[in-house]
Amino acid sequence: MTWEPVIGLEIHIHLKTRTKMFCRCEVAYSEPENTRTCPVCLAHPGSLPVPNAKAVEWTIKLGLALGCRIAERAVFHRKNYFYPDNPKGYQISQYDEPLCVDGRLVVPGPDGEPEVGIVRAHLEEDAAKNVHTGSAQGRIAGASATLVDFNRAGTPLVEIVTRPDLRSADDARRFLQLLRQTVVELGISDAEMEKGSLRFDVNVSIRPQGSDELRTRTELKNLNSFAFAAKAIQREVERQTGIYEAGGEVEQETLHFEPGTESAPPLRSKEEAQDYRYFPEPDLVPLQPPAELVERVRAELPELPGARIMRLAAELDPDTATDLVTSGRDALFERVPGDRRAVANVLMNQFAAAGVDAAAVDPEEFGKLIEARSRIPRERLIEALAASGTPGFLADDYLGDGLMADTSELEPIVDRILEANSGQVEAYRGGKEGLLGFFVGQVMRETQGKADPKVVNELLREKLST
Ligand code: ADP
Ligand code: ZN
Ligand code: MG
Repeated sequence: MTWEPVIGLEIHIHLKTRTKMFCRCEVAYSEPENTRTCPVCLAHPGSLPVPNAKAVEWTIKLGLALGCRIAERAVFHRKNYFYPDNPKGYQISQYDEPLCVDGRLVVPGPDGEPEVGIVRAHLEEDAAKNVHTGSAQGRIAGASATLVDFNRAGTPLVEIVTRPDLRSADDARRFLQLLRQTVVELGISDAEMEKGSLRFDVNVSIRPQGSDELRTRTELKNLNSFAFAAKAIQREVERQTGIYEAGGEVEQETLHFEPGTESAPPLRSKEEAQDYRYFPEPDLVPLQPPAELVERVRAELPELPGARIMRLAAELDPDTATDLVTSGRDALFERVPGDRRAVANVLMNQFAAAGVDAAAVDPEEFGKLIEARSRIPRERLIEALAASGTPGFLADDYLGDGLMADTSELEPIVDRILEANSGQVEAYRGGKEGLLGFFVGQVMRETQGKADPKVVNELLREKLST
């Protein structure tokens, strides 16, 4: 029997508004603990929340980018729970009348362009941050104390819930990449996982291929990168397959991943049925976004990265297109002349390896570089890029017939480099032939990339073998 994965995601993003969701404290990440607080976000009695208009507008913007319907009336609810990160004893969130509903995001992949339904995108506030001290890696286990930093309390947070429409770990990864790039380009969040401004949970079940039942799911939490999430989903699909094939039943549970431990088996804990006793927030009136506001925001939407991925996927492939767009290198890609595949490869391989800033690159010069690529070994290209920060140093003469190919000119340089690196020369002669690249690199650096690599290679081999 073939099993089909069924995956749904819940994503939280911080909005990068200047101030918090219901007070005028600054949104801060690296300020000293508990210095960005006030009576509202510390839940002093008698303090009252005032919604951040920018956060509302940006949530509408995201909703529109995700093809959602913007509710004419959205209601804030209190979600009640006790925890030290939550001084009010409840979180202000949205419940059965969220701001954005019923959207979709098309995620181009190798097997077509699956459309992922968006159940809702709603606005809420983040909790404070618990800091566990006295234990390894800041984990709660073995900690001697837990301190609370209220700077994060009240940071505007959008929660996006998808339908269980994803059918593979890679589709889930591509969805997350695209969603992240979308919020970044909308200018509403920096969506950085390391910073905690993007977090997500993954729900996974499987079912016999062809069936449309929804079986018991497990929830994977604390995944710390998209690539790791894809691996974890894959592993979870295999685990569930094993259970069904052995005649068992999958239990509903939450699998917690400890940050930073990629190989350790997850800790398991039973999902608790929780009663949050939601009720409408009595201190806030319902949001009723005016139609003119919604239309203005809609008119201001830029071309979305999903559309660009779709366009580029047609000439490349979905993964390269996704990587180009989500790394922000697609703008340069589109301006560089020459073979599409070659340009994309250099951008995604050499550029990434050398840490080249795409914004600093001259597309015309870069196009020439690609053309010259057949004559320049890959390693040289990486070095040249790394050394210059931009391929603009490649003057016309270098790309034309300006290469230094004259041995009488190159020999003294080669000699000097071999002399200065006698240790490596010995190692090379002792069998470490991989060091040839190192010597070539030194010559290229010395000649600012102008030496003919073929001649340099020949010279080096000759001298090193004697
Ligand atoms: P709950 O109300 O328990 O939070 P939801 O219906 O809101 O459950 O779904 C939460 C998330 O779980 C959504 O992203 C949804 O797509 C996903 N999900 C729901 N059922 C399944 C399932 N059987 N398999 C995989 N994912 C699921
Ligand atoms: Zn405050
Ligand atoms: Mg839910």
